[in-house]
Amino acid sequence: MGLLDGKHALVTGGSRGIGRAIALKFASEGADVAITFFSRKEEADAVVAEICAMGRRAVCYQSDASDFNAAGETVAAADAFLGGLDILVNNAGVTRDSLLIRMDEQQWDTVINANLKSVFNYCRHAGALMMRRRSGSIINISSVVGIGGNAGQCNYAASKAGVIGLTMSVAKELGARGVRANCIAPGFILTEMTSRLPDNLKDMWIQDTLLKRAGLPEDVANVALFLASELSSYITGETINCSAHMRN
Ligand code: NAP
Repeated sequence: MGLLDGKHALVTGGSRGIGRAIALKFASEGADVAITFFSRKEEADAVVAEICAMGRRAVCYQSDASDFNAAGETVAAADAFLGGLDILVNNAGVTRDSLLIRMDEQQWDTVINANLKSVFNYCRHAGALMMRRRSGSIINISSVVGIGGNAGQCNYAASKAGVIGLTMSVAKELGARGVRANCIAPGFILTEMTSRLPDNLKDMWIQDTLLKRAGLPEDVANVALFLASELSSYITGETINCSAHMRN
């Protein structure tokens, strides 16, 4: 018996990193899973193969999460393929780091569109389906940077803070229809996104944690599993910090 037996999940940016770990975790708990990717088809195909090897159904879609119409088409395709949509994870995201006074318009727009508009796109399309069916769990991946800010990441921080506000609003609008919406705010997690950071910055992040280690994609996937499952049936509009930091 898995925690997600019979459930159908859509995970954006499921080809690698945190999204991949979430997709695999959900499948290992009995869910059928659709993932999206932006350009790395081989990685996405490999995730689909891993899920199918577990005996679950899986599919991947190339779909730019920042494109409203593409998101609508992807939600409809996933819903049709899976035979329903119980869980949506808005995980796709990018960074284009720069100090404020050096940041150009494209860096700002790319991050806001990929990290924030994308969440609106998928909540809008999948939320409508879930609302009609009076059931669903939406999980949006924010960041501790969206809560505390970070020098060199004003675009990213704004996008991730926006995700929290959007999620609380979705929770308020859809709660009465049986749809929950929550955020996860990861800290420093070892993925390709963070592999580009200089070593001294990585060490600083690690020393700053209470557990003196970096987070793994699986650490975030475990929180996503909790939020996707009935174990969190009375939790909505919440942001769970997954960073080994205390908020003080
Ligand atoms: P990652 O390893 O860089 O993976 C990013 C994923 O998003 C990939 O699957 C990528 O697809 C996909 N993606 C990017 N832009 C997209 C777009 N426009 N449309 C569709 N898919 C897109 O990143 P990660 O570290 O796993 O991060 C996942 C999420 O967690 C992001 O929202 C990130 O902001 C958040 N987060 C990460 C950390 C961390 O420390 N790593 C901390 C806090 C929050 P392709 O493979 O095709 O490129």
